[in-house]
Amino acid sequence: MPTSTQQQKPQPAPPLPEPLRVPVADSHTHLDMQEPSVEEAVAAAASVGVATLVQVGCDLERSRWAAETAAAHPAVHAAVALHPNEAPRAAGRGELDSSLGEIEKLAALPQVLAVGETGLDYFRTGEEGISSQQYSFREHIAIAKRQERALVIHDRDAHADVLRILDEEGAPERTVFHCFSGDADMARHCAARGWFMSFAGNVTFKNARPLRDALAVAPPELVLVETDAPFLTPAPYRGRPNAPYLVPVTLRAMAETKGMPEDSLAEHVAANTARAFGY
Ligand SMILES: [Zn+2]
Ligand SMILES: [Zn+2]
Repeated sequence: MPTSTQQQKPQPAPPLPEPLRVPVADSHTHLDMQEPSVEEAVAAAASVGVATLVQVGCDLERSRWAAETAAAHPAVHAAVALHPNEAPRAAGRGELDSSLGEIEKLAALPQVLAVGETGLDYFRTGEEGISSQQYSFREHIAIAKRQERALVIHDRDAHADVLRILDEEGAPERTVFHCFSGDADMARHCAARGWFMSFAGNVTFKNARPLRDALAVAPPELVLVETDAPFLTPAPYRGRPNAPYLVPVTLRAMAETKGMPEDSLAEHVAANTARAFGY
C-alpha cells in the first residue's frame, strides 16, 4: 500500500527489463491501482518471465474485484482482506464485522489463495485506530486458519505488535510478510518460525542497508519477491510507475545482495511462492 504521498507529474513507464530465464511470481500487486489493463499487465509480466501474479484487495469492493479477476485470468491469484488502514474506517461506519464476514466468504473461493493484506500500520493510522486494527488483524488470522489460506501481513512501523499478536493467536501454517521491512534480527525471528519474507523494490533503495542485511540472512527457502505496484518502483526507476513486469529488476538486485546466481535465486523464489500460496 501507499508509502509516498508526494504528488508527482506522470512519468513514462520504465522499459521492459531483460527477461528472467527462470519464471517467477510477483507475490503482491495491486492491478486495480495501475494504469494498464489487467490483460496488458499480465502480458507484459509474462514477456519478461513473471508468469504468475497475486492480486491483493485492500477493502471489500476491491477484494471482490480481486476474486473476479483471478477467476478470469489463470495467471492471477487473489488475496482478500480489509487493509489495516481500512479496518478503522469500516469500524467507523459500523461495518467491520459484516465486512469481515464477506471477506471470509470470498476467502473460501478456489481462486482466492490468501487472506491479506492484513496486519498493523502505525504509520498511517494513529492511536484512535489501533484497537480496531488489532481486532481486524486477529479476525483475519482466524479466517486464514479456518479457510486454510496463506496469511499476507502488512507491517508498517509495528513490528513488535505484529509479532506478538501472531504468537498470541498462533500463525497460520503459511504466513507471508509482504514488503518485508524488518532488520536482520527480525528476519531471523521470522526464519525460526518458517515465515516467508517477500521483498519489494525498496530493497534496491540507497538508504535500505538494514533491509539488505535482513535479506542477506533470510534463508533462500523463505524468500519471495513482489512489486507492491504501483508503489515502491525499484531503482533506477524511482518516481516512475511500478508494475509486475519490473520484478526482474528487484530480483537481480536481491541476487546480488545474497551473492547468489540470478537463476538459482529465481528457482527458489518460484518454488517458495508456489508453496506459500499453495498453487
Ligand atoms: Zn502493504
Ligand atoms: Zn500492498
